[in-house]
Amino acid sequence: MGLMRSLKRNILAPVFVSTPGAQSSPIMPGGTTPGTPSSKQKEKSSVIRSKVVVALYNYKAIEPGDLSLEKNAEYEVIDDSQEHWWKVRDAQGNIGFIPSNYVKEKELLGLQQYDWYVNDMSRQRSESLLKQEDKEGCFVVRNSSTKGLYTLSLYTKNPHPHVKHYHIKQNSKGEYYLSEKHCCASIPDLINYHRHNSGGLASRLKASPCDRSVPATAGLSHDKWEIDPQELMLLEELGSGQFGVVRRGKWRGSIDVAVKMMKEGTMSEDDFIEEAKVMTKLQHTNLVQLYGVCSKNRPIFIVTEYMRHGSLLNYLRRHEQSLVSNQGLLLDMCIQVCKGMAYLERHNYIHRDLAARNCLVGSENTVKVADFGLARYVLDDQYTSSGGSKFPIKWAPPEVLNYTRFSSKSDIWAYGVLMWEVFTCGKMPYGRLKNAEVVERVQKGLILERPKNCYKEVYDIMRKCWSPVPENRPSFRVLKEQLISVAQGLLVD
Ligand code: AMP
Repeated sequence: MGLMRSLKRNILAPVFVSTPGAQSSPIMPGGTTPGTPSSKQKEKSSVIRSKVVVALYNYKAIEPGDLSLEKNAEYEVIDDSQEHWWKVRDAQGNIGFIPSNYVKEKELLGLQQYDWYVNDMSRQRSESLLKQEDKEGCFVVRNSSTKGLYTLSLYTKNPHPHVKHYHIKQNSKGEYYLSEKHCCASIPDLINYHRHNSGGLASRLKASPCDRSVPATAGLSHDKWEIDPQELMLLEELGSGQFGVVRRGKWRGSIDVAVKMMKEGTMSEDDFIEEAKVMTKLQHTNLVQLYGVCSKNRPIFIVTEYMRHGSLLNYLRRHEQSLVSNQGLLLDMCIQVCKGMAYLERHNYIHRDLAARNCLVGSENTVKVADFGLARYVLDDQYTSSGGSKFPIKWAPPEVLNYTRFSSKSDIWAYGVLMWEVFTCGKMPYGRLKNAEVVERVQKGLILERPKNCYKEVYDIMRKCWSPVPENRPSFRVLKEQLISVAQGLLVD
């Protein structure tokens, strides 16, 4: 295995070798030096330079034409013209497609090669992850909410089980430290030091959480959205909604999926099947991944990523007791939904039915937006017309109620209502008011009241979403920045 690795390293050796001067180059957090090639090297690199990536996760090729990935091994990129599936060559010369979100360019790898680095995970999510693991000295390093800084989150049982958060600081020489007495040239060196010496920390660093979730791929394989129902094992029922029953499933016996079995006559199927090809290409950590459809038989199946804790609405209601006192976690849930929606907005994609019932909760308290764009294919008048009994009136802004005018700005209004649902732990907006009464209130400019215990700063953001003039509502991109800055101001990072 060790020999294999070094063989691979040789074959895929990076083009920029270190020069004698490289020692004095600034050291990146990951312990690598940024490339400063000489003109001779530049010349050489223009001839032989190819993109080399490193696998962040294992991946098992399933379809012919795909290639398996081995975590930490290197691959040469042959074709990255498609966003989500790249053609690469492994050290043995095998060529095939791999999911592009499973690899990272070697030169940009930084801390991502380490199991203890969890990227943008929030303080609240790191706490739940470490508490779930429940091991003394278990730790992660994450990006601090202040850009460019890192935080170490460490679980200790002394004097009682809790998580401590330490900012990783840098001195004037650019060295990293947790306690000023022990400075190291890079963050990995610092972590190694504290594996052996607690050096002022609550515990020595021991392990990082195992069992981290692996991201979904855009489709189950390269260019695949039609799924053979024979390859789906259908398991227990997860719930049922507008379109029919949803069941957990296994694809080819190994990949967890959710299977929505579309009640016949509820949607315009041909249009949806066409659209599904586009939808499988939408990929973001905070969007429920559409893997594909089984469209050859009836009822058609929609196959998506499986989210173990089900709908956000039920999750909020089930965990009200513990959530109500954890405003940080509630805000983090809102930020996650906002990130998913900012991605849709960037791709000019309108959700049309954003609400807590249409978001799902997965492991590590991840929240993802589901069912985006599906509303366009519903055939039921009661759902599609603003006068219908199933129309989501309570999430609709005036321009939708009056002219059925959907836009990213109508999604923003619905997002404000979703924030309200989150901060009330799943209460029904406008209580028992009938739809007609809600419409009357909204037309008069009356808005939902501030949820009990909700910070004023958070409520101010909801109010911005409920501006009667769509243009005056912020974009999801701006909203995301504002929410992150509120989180920084209100909570210790
Ligand atoms: P829907 O038809 O999308 O409203 O789904 C009905 C219910 O099925 C939801 O409220 C969830 O409890 C469950 N469900 C739907 N999709 C998933 C999924 N991808 N993973 C887990 N549970 C799901």
